[in-house]
Amino acid sequence: MTTAMVHADGVRKRFGAHEVLRGIDLNVAPGQVCCLLGPSGSGKSTFLRCINHLETLDGGTLTVDGTPVGYRQHGGRLYALRPREVATRRREIGMVFQRFNLFGHLTVLQNITEAPVHVLREPVAQAREQAAVLLERVGLADKAGAYPAQLSGGQQQRVAIARALAMRPKLMLFDEPTSALDPELVGEVLDVMRDLAADGMTMIVVTHEMGFASQVADQVVFLDGGAVVETGTPAEVLGNPRSERTRAFLSKVL
Ligand code: ADP
Ligand code: MG
Repeated sequence: MTTAMVHADGVRKRFGAHEVLRGIDLNVAPGQVCCLLGPSGSGKSTFLRCINHLETLDGGTLTVDGTPVGYRQHGGRLYALRPREVATRRREIGMVFQRFNLFGHLTVLQNITEAPVHVLREPVAQAREQAAVLLERVGLADKAGAYPAQLSGGQQQRVAIARALAMRPKLMLFDEPTSALDPELVGEVLDVMRDLAADGMTMIVVTHEMGFASQVADQVVFLDGGAVVETGTPAEVLGNPRSERTRAFLSKVL
């Protein structure tokens, strides 16, 4: 058996008295695409934030590529990670948000080379070369010198994807990457994500784009109230949902 890229076992998270994740179980194998669906407030973003070390867990275990999130194993015991160790682990995970969060005062090229140069200490020439390859890949080879404000939302989101890929992540998390876009710009971003999936990237994607989920996902997970209601192939969960709650949700988004 290969190690899961992401393995969640009874993951719990509360904010004060509000239990937002109530025992999430999930397995994502290397190279798989997992689409997370669920109504607003069901805990999707919180779960991604847990995977990316942005939240601490209140229960259960979560591992990325076999390594527990938040802890380090030593001599059979677990120790809480120090901030510097967290930073190192987070580099292996790329995250793309609804809002593009590009640095407005930097060009597209500088946005992409910033972390490889300053965090990974790559030589500038090498980082630029790689950025050019990534820009080609997201269809923006001609925009290297542009500033984010000069780009459409779809172009900015493709730059955000290229910027995340520049860190050579082993896992990519997408939190509603097309929700803030005008409808005519959604397709170009989904196309880039489709290519990435075809290229073998492990991805967890929170999305309401059912076409994308049904074509690209290996696994679809429906969350409600901080718990997994249903999980399976797109044909199972989207085509023939077992749960009334899944059916009610799908009838609203489809
Ligand atoms: P989703 O992404 O599925 O819409 P979220 O994970 O953003 O859901 O939120 C799940 C629940 O947790 C919501 O009720 C939200 O208000 C609450 N929540 C999220 N983050 C915080 C926080 N930092 N403090 C308090 N409550 C939070
Ligand atoms: Mg969310």
